[in-house]
Amino acid sequence: MMEEQIVRPVARAGVLAIDPYIPGKAKASGGHKLHKLSSNESPLGASPKALEAYRSISDLQYYPDGSATLLREAIGEVYGLNPQRIICGCGSDEVLSLLAYAYLGEGDEAIYTTHGFLVYKIAIHAAGATPVVAPEKKLTTDVDAILERVTEKTKMVFVANPNNPTGTYIPFDEVKRLHAGLPKSCILVLDAAYAEYVRRNDYQAGIELVANSENVVMTRTFSKVYGLPALRVGWAYGPEHMIDALNRIRGPFNMNSAAIAAGAAAVRDQSFVEQSVSHNSEWLPWVVDEMTKLGLDVTPSVGNFILIHFPDEQGKRAADADAFLLERGCVLRQVKAYGFDNALRMSIGSEEANRDVVAVLAEFLK
Ligand SMILES: *Cc1c(COP(=O)(O)O)cnc(C)c1O
Repeated sequence: MMEEQIVRPVARAGVLAIDPYIPGKAKASGGHKLHKLSSNESPLGASPKALEAYRSISDLQYYPDGSATLLREAIGEVYGLNPQRIICGCGSDEVLSLLAYAYLGEGDEAIYTTHGFLVYKIAIHAAGATPVVAPEKKLTTDVDAILERVTEKTKMVFVANPNNPTGTYIPFDEVKRLHAGLPKSCILVLDAAYAEYVRRNDYQAGIELVANSENVVMTRTFSKVYGLPALRVGWAYGPEHMIDALNRIRGPFNMNSAAIAAGAAAVRDQSFVEQSVSHNSEWLPWVVDEMTKLGLDVTPSVGNFILIHFPDEQGKRAADADAFLLERGCVLRQVKAYGFDNALRMSIGSEEANRDVVAVLAEFLK
């Protein structure tokens, strides 16, 4: 008997090339108090004003404002930007995907770095284009390596600055040098998800570069320092012609009313942001110091997380540490998908969480 041939829809090749994104774990295994340090969330949560704005949304029978005007105007006011040049998205992940869908297709190439944020690769494949990986130097974006890989097919370059999961950054001079070396038809995407945390004189998120060029976009998020990842709020600042293109392909109501209201209130509460940043500035060096004392190697980070490298010794590797920590209520992030076989990423948590992780790791390494 002839085998019956199954006929069914088949996704485009690029779609099937995607390795599904695996989010950070949300649960520990034992009955311990849980410290969730796996997704770079803020230990201070969101501003009480943002929570109040969120709770004030009750007319659920009406569609939201499709242009998220309230939110774009609040962002424009606080960051000193023209709201016409801002687009909001369901997390900056959506904005990154919109960029890929609008500008990339079959035959195009887009570049990101070895340990670049995984969403870039997904968005590039989903758009049918070809990802090109540029090596890093000391786990940091290497401008020359990117420029060496630019061809006439290169339509987009993604740089997370600072990058996740490494926590490293490049100075603004380097960003400008990268931009200057790219063809004018190639888009430079500056993903500044952690910009608020960076306290370095030579760092800039990219506002100035966007303002003065036709091919640079900066993406930002409310998921990190603003503490609103559950609501999915992100945005981008770009040239008007690009924002116009993205607006044409986004869902007409991609932002919901609660996200718009809470985001607007959050961005207006900059004193809360300062509290979150100063908590991080206090605890980041403390955690790094303690890890170093334990003999662990930590990549220098300017974000709200660190990449911890474990010894090669049997039984003391990252996966073992992860299991040991999980049993004791500490949820960190394995980063094998980013090419780090023997490291864990840890978000800077509350004082209690930070102290617990250090104590548990001390026990683990004994
Ligand atoms: C967390 C993160 C984002 C933000 O994602 P959202 O979709 O806004 O929650 C973007 N880029 C990087 C590098 C990140 O780490």
